Amino acid sequence: MADSVAIVGAGLAGCLLATLLGRRGVPVTVYERREDPRDTPPERGRSINLAISARGLEALDQVGLRELTLSRALPMHGRMVHGRDGQQSFRPYSADGAHAINSISRAELNLVLIEIAARTPGVMMEFGCRLDGLDMATGELAFEAVGHRRGRSRHTARAGIVLAADGAYSAARRSVTFRPGFTFSQDYLQHGYKELTVPSRDGEFALDPDALHIWPRGSSMMIALPNLDRSFTCTLFWTFDEFAALRTAEQVLACFGEQYGDVAGLIPDLADDYLHNPVGSLATIRCWPWVHHGEGCTLALVGDAAHAIVPFYGQGANCAFEDCVEIDLCLSDADGDWTLALAEYQRRRKANCDAIADMALDNFIEMRDRVNSPVFRATTAARHALERRLPGRYVSRYELVSFTTVPYAQIPDRMRRQDRVTALVAAGFVGLGGLAGALAAGGMARRRGR
Ligand SMILES: Cc1cc2nc3c(=O)[nH]c(=O)nc-3n(C[C@H](O)[C@H](O)[C@H](O)COP(=O)(O)OP(=O)(O)OC[C@H]3O[C@@H](n4cnc5c(N)ncnc54)[C@H](O)[C@@H]3O)c2cc1C
Repeated sequence: MADSVAIVGAGLAGCLLATLLGRRGVPVTVYERREDPRDTPPERGRSINLAISARGLEALDQVGLRELTLSRALPMHGRMVHGRDGQQSFRPYSADGAHAINSISRAELNLVLIEIAARTPGVMMEFGCRLDGLDMATGELAFEAVGHRRGRSRHTARAGIVLAADGAYSAARRSVTFRPGFTFSQDYLQHGYKELTVPSRDGEFALDPDALHIWPRGSSMMIALPNLDRSFTCTLFWTFDEFAALRTAEQVLACFGEQYGDVAGLIPDLADDYLHNPVGSLATIRCWPWVHHGEGCTLALVGDAAHAIVPFYGQGANCAFEDCVEIDLCLSDADGDWTLALAEYQRRRKANCDAIADMALDNFIEMRDRVNSPVFRATTAARHALERRLPGRYVSRYELVSFTTVPYAQIPDRMRRQDRVTALVAAGFVGLGGLAGALAAGGMARRRGR
């Protein structure tokens, strides 16, 4: 049993990891609580779009999925900021306007990954199995039968290696929560999220599909990402109090008319969707260690189960995919020795995941508020000018996070160094002196969001 491998969760990380392991000849069984999405439609109000960028694409490339993913995604080359007066202003993500992040439905991406995992020799997929207990002493996993399995008796399985890819509220992680030495924190935002849909209008996109749309409103915001069917998925990021304050259709319509006037008329089912779609919560989860040894099995936490982050840099899935590739690399480096490989995996990844967690929290303020400021806009323009004038020497934070695979943990220090050096250099360039001074003074727009 020592080498049998179980993955809990057939989400984004679980499926990519299963595929990578299957390809290296490691048999693996994936247990997923949901029904097989190849047979069932997605849940209402849970169609979250994801922005997949360089890190995610690099990881998907490892299993030959880069092109397929891109073919099911829409590139977004910048942000479209919507003012209260309905004015729109486009801000490219990169200095040359060429780089884009890619909007894809989470359900669609998950389906692609489930399909490839299921086709990989050595990978078994079990749906309708909700893990509700892991005994580290015996390596026994206990499942509640759900969905099509409901009514059947509970079943159990055993594994020597358990890889927990069961998301932010990981059931597998609960089996080690009270172990001495396990540090865990879960910090909730006061904001939750709710999804709405802007359908296509006369068969066309109702908004520019080449942008991630933002309605920054100070303490809260709405964003919208395009879908292949020419609709947009809007996500409201509001405080729970703001959500609770709207209880009737009239209140919803009045609020949207005032705050998001240019889009309210594009959502025909606005009041109904608002009143029925769920409000999700947003948390940053940090824990350590990610790898635990029991007498019966070794447990390793992967993706959101190890490090859930808030979505304001659009990096949670990208980061989870990097974890999977790192495990695969570590297994190669350790000649297949799981103990060595997993120890190295958590050592290499922890600082990177902490860094992106912090950057993601920073960026909420930028997206909901700072993007509106003229100073912010001028500083962003200056940064792009510096990137064009000093290629490779000045690279913005957004560029490093979204369009490179530079380890996240290196980015904050690099930004501090760059801001000091390039401010001095840039002061010599005509037209950039004043703005360079502003950069040196505070690195005021160091935070750049998705
Ligand atoms: C509003 C929002 C917007 C986001 N936007 C982006 C973005 O633009 N870009 C980006 O990169 N990331 C984004 N993310 C983050 C991204 O969705 C997650 O980081 C990513 O899904 C993590 O992948 P995972 O496989 O670790 O977990 P998940 O995708 O959550 O998968 C976990 C899987 O485990 C299953 N499971 C759970 N419990 C059990 C159990 N007890 N037994 C068996 N199976 C179980 C679940 O059903 C699920 O299939 C966003 C997140 C949110 C909430």
